[in-house]
Order: sequence, then structure tokens, then C-alpha cells
Amino acid sequence: MEISLHNQVAVITGASSGIGTGIAKSIASAGAAVVVNHSSERSTDEAKAVLKEITDAGGKGITYQCDVSKEDQVVKMFQDVISEFGTVDILINNAGIQKDSKFTEMTIDQWNAVIGVNLTGQFLCAREAIKEFLRRGIDPSRSVACGKIIHISSVHEIIPWAGHANYASSKGAIRMLMQTLAQEYGADKIRVNSICPGAIQTPINKSAWETPEALNSLLSLIPYNRIGQPQDIGNLAAFLASDLADYITGTSIFVDGGMTTFESFSTGG
Ligand code: NAD
Repeated sequence: MEISLHNQVAVITGASSGIGTGIAKSIASAGAAVVVNHSSERSTDEAKAVLKEITDAGGKGITYQCDVSKEDQVVKMFQDVISEFGTVDILINNAGIQKDSKFTEMTIDQWNAVIGVNLTGQFLCAREAIKEFLRRGIDPSRSVACGKIIHISSVHEIIPWAGHANYASSKGAIRMLMQTLAQEYGADKIRVNSICPGAIQTPINKSAWETPEALNSLLSLIPYNRIGQPQDIGNLAAFLASDLADYITGTSIFVDGGMTTFESFSTGG
């Protein structure tokens, strides 16, 4: 059994770092052309380095700077990608940020920044992707589906997270966005799912793994007793985007080493 995304085009948001990079590499190694999206001038070199690794390994793609929280930039990104590659088959809505604060001290800017990237960004990209899927229709030489969207959510889609109300709210909302789109566009053969990572070793959560003490404390939450790697998410993203997953839509899949079994209940409760 082989995961094949040949002849397809995938946009991966926030692919200059962490999980997005892992996903871009997996999707490219399955044969799709990848758009390595990054947010700003500052991340250009990182995005280029990711693309170089992909092309050195025989993959193909481009880098594209776009802040996913800005409507005009997202609309232009999809227009440019479609004029470069003809269409888009797969959207991986991955870009995300944290602006942590005790709730009573959380500023409106911290709230809006996180909702803007993590939720509004996923809305804007999904809207532009679905418009293109519907315009193109099903092309069996590409996929049996009309299009595939994978939202990168989090275990915090279901685990409340003190000190991170903006982040947890954005991830809880992604579940309803994902399920609503899966329901609304199922008859059009557009598949929409979420991947909910647990603790994956990336810059976003460096403080949780950079010292042995922090890592030990983190591992106490993970029955499988290791921190996740971006490839763990990339492997599932490539499968979910492929026709092997053609009957999977409207679902959140947790990739978390068992974190959502609530490890602390193994000795208490
Ligand atoms: P990361 O900080 O390494 O990567 C985040 C990426 O998003 C970066 O490439 C960044 O440039 C990009 N980004 C930020 N703002 C953007 C914007 N406005 N427009 C476009 N791109 C933007 O973090 P990560 O851990 O790789 O996180 C990726 C996704 O995975 C996020 O949605 C995050 O919430 C989710 N997630 C991560 C973990 C984890 O343990 N690392 C767990 C659960 C969910």
C-alpha cells in the first residue's frame, strides 16, 4: 500500500517551522507540489531552507509569504498559487501562535492576535481553497475527492488550558469549523478533517522540553513516554490527504502519545 499524492498541489500554512515543515516534507515525499507558506520577511530564509531540503530529496514546490490572518493576502496567495500550478488540491491549515496570559491580564491584542491567526486564518484559507475545489470539480487523474482540507488543531480542542484561554478557545472553535465544512461540502466530495497534536517538539513549546526537568514534567502527561516529532504529524497528514482516507471526513484524530487518556488518572481518580 503506497500513499500517493502525485499530480496534486498542496498549500501548507506556517511551513517554515516545526509541524508545518514536517507536513510539507511528508506531503512532498508522497509526490505533491507544495507551497511552503511563511508569514513574514523574517521567515523567508527558513522557508527557503525547507524548500531546499524538499527539492534536494526530489520533491517540488515554491515558498510563499502571506500572513494568513489578512484577507487580502490570503486571497492573493490562492490566486498566485492557482496561476502558478493551475489549481489547489490540498490545504493544510497549520499556522498557529500562542500569546499566553493569566485570563484577567489578557489584553485584547493577545486575544485578537491568537484568534486572528489560529481561527480567522483557517477560515480565510479554507474559504479560498473550497472556492477553487468547487470551480475545478472532481478530476480523477488527481484524486477521487474534489479537495481535501486538514486543520491542525490541538489536544486543547478538548483539554481546557489555564493561562491559555485565547489558544484553547481558538482550537475548540476549529472543531466546529471543521465539522461544519465537512457537513456543508460532503456532497461535493470535499473532505475536511482535523489533526490534534499532543506535545510535539517545536519552537512553539520550547520551554516545555528544553531542560531535563521541563521534559520530565511534560512526559508525566504522556503515557507513551516520549515527546512527539513533526514527522508524527506529517505521516498522518499525508495519509489523510490521500485517497486511502477517502471515507474519512468530519473527524478529529488525536496524535498525542495517549495524552487524552488523562495520564494522571492512572494512579488517582
Ligand atoms: P511553530 O512556532 O514551530 O510554527 C508555527 C508556524 O506558523 C511558523 O512557521 C510561523 O511562521 C507560522 N505562522 C505564525 N503566524 C503566521 C501567520 N500570521 N501567517 C502565516 N504563518 C504564520 O509551532 P508548531 O508547533 O509547528 O505549530 C504548528 C501548529 O500546530 C499550530 O497551529 C499549533 O497550534 C499546533 N500545535 C502544536 C503543538 C506542539 O506541541 N508543538 C501541539 C498542538 C498543536
